Amino acid sequence: KRGYQSSIALPLKSGGDILACLAIYAGEPDAFAADEVSLLEKLADNLAFGIDVLRMRDERRQAEQALRESEERYRTIFQNSPLGIFRSTVEGRFLEVNPALAKILGYDSPGDVIREIVNIGEQIYPNAESRIRIVAEQLGAAGDIMQHHNRYRRRDGSECIANLYLKTVRDAEGRPVFFEGIIEDITERMQAEDERERLQAQLVQAQKMESIGRLAGGIAHDFNNVLSAVIGYAELALREADISERLYGYLQEIRKAADRSVDLTRQLLAFARKQTVLPKVVDLNETVTGLITLLQRLIGEEVHLTWQPGARVWAVKVDPSQIDQILTNLCVNARDAIENTGTITIQTRNGVLDETYAADHPGAVPGEYVLLSVTDDGQGMVRETLAHVFEPFFTTKEMGKGTGLGLAMVYGIVKQNNGYIDIDSEPGRGTTISIYLPRHMGEAGQSGVSADEETVAQGDETILLVEDEPVILDIARLVLEKCGYRVLTASRPNEAIRLVKERACEIHLLITDVIMPGMNGRELADAVLGLCPEIRCLFMSGYSGNAIAQHGVLDEDVHFIQKPFSTADLAAKVRQVLDGE
Ligand code: ADP
Ligand code: MG
Repeated sequence: KRGYQSSIALPLKSGGDILACLAIYAGEPDAFAADEVSLLEKLADNLAFGIDVLRMRDERRQAEQALRESEERYRTIFQNSPLGIFRSTVEGRFLEVNPALAKILGYDSPGDVIREIVNIGEQIYPNAESRIRIVAEQLGAAGDIMQHHNRYRRRDGSECIANLYLKTVRDAEGRPVFFEGIIEDITERMQAEDERERLQAQLVQAQKMESIGRLAGGIAHDFNNVLSAVIGYAELALREADISERLYGYLQEIRKAADRSVDLTRQLLAFARKQTVLPKVVDLNETVTGLITLLQRLIGEEVHLTWQPGARVWAVKVDPSQIDQILTNLCVNARDAIENTGTITIQTRNGVLDETYAADHPGAVPGEYVLLSVTDDGQGMVRETLAHVFEPFFTTKEMGKGTGLGLAMVYGIVKQNNGYIDIDSEPGRGTTISIYLPRHMGEAGQSGVSADEETVAQGDETILLVEDEPVILDIARLVLEKCGYRVLTASRPNEAIRLVKERACEIHLLITDVIMPGMNGRELADAVLGLCPEIRCLFMSGYSGNAIAQHGVLDEDVHFIQKPFSTADLAAKVRQVLDGE
């Protein structure tokens, strides 16, 4: 159709395959001579070779592209991983490091790590031995990846805790070539765990103090009743005119021993927060100033006492006698901690405890406080001592020197006043005890005047005495009768009310225990006053419990006497109530 008379077809060969065919046509028959055929065959081979080359180049380019993409993908993991990833020589030089590792070790960039750390063992192991151990363990192990838990030194010298997952890369003969590893920083997790453990321990400690407090309070309260009897009868016996001098001496010893026991139980009650208190609005600076002379005498001349009142300290509401107890105990402790000469500093100032402080110090409540602190430059305390100082009967002092009740009592007083106590102490560096008392908002009050009278006050009025504890009822009646009063007694509130109904006008004073079965002292007083408003009232108790107020706090305006009391105390108090406005 087109007039072709002859043709030749030449295969384009690549390896053993035929890629294509080159066909050439001519207008005349037998157009291709032998030399032309071999020329065309060479041309076809050259063409085939050219196609091969082009194809191979293309394939390589594709392969390279694929490799680049895959590397890129892994690179991203390496760069962005939150875990530190590295490759290092077996001897201890980093070859490759990711940014996370640089960050864990406190460096700005992976480049800095590789440049600056020339000896891993010496530079990032706080103890080079541990790297030697890890490497030996790693090389000796059959398994590939091993986990090691270790501490590492950061660039700034601080330390972190991390898990290291290490793999040894070996050559064909099995010789180690380098290490590859992943490092997981667990410092924060460990710290959080430590923190949790610390808080847990503090909670346990608080619960322990609470239960010791209940125990101590219970014992002290019952013991007080017994002591009341011992003191009362000893005093009555001492007043007998016809006893021998020897007997008089014995009785005085009994009286003295009982006094010491009263002191102990009072401290226990303070620790148990069962001390009955009469809080007043006070200016701490005034209260402390009033105590300085006494405190200086207490600590002796070798020790210098410095008093630094803060400017314009806020008012606090506290029983001033508790400030007395706190400072006496802290100063005696401070003096004992000072070997020969030294200084004790008492300071006051306003202070605010914030949320952060409260979060760090369980038991502290954020708010405004007045800080009262006592600092000494004595021997300080070791950790084990610090852990136990508030426990009653914990003492490091020799027999007869310490009772271990001082700080327990201070602790109880501070808790009773919703305050917070903190100790800062180190062996050889002295001690500071800081007491935070809540700021009192509202009117300033007068500090009360206490009328201590030397001679036993007398009288001839009629007193109704109500007390469910027979020994105390007896002893108080005896004491009051000795003072000249007419005494009616009742061991039950109902009995007392009946007596008032019978002879209301004769009774001048009601003295009642606070905690009694059936009806408490406050309720009894209300009932009696309802029948006969002229009667005066005096409350007595080992502690006030929660019948009158929640935390052993009586109203400021009631008359109160704490058991056990001495004859003189009771007589003076009775006169004071009877003679008062
Ligand atoms: P005591 O003084 O009877 O031993 P405390 O309860 O007052 O009991 O104190 C308990 C312990 O706390 C003391 O024995 C002492 O080891 C330690 N301590 C208290 N205050 C200080 C202080 N300022 N410096 C050093 N140690 C102190
Ligand atoms: Mg002490």
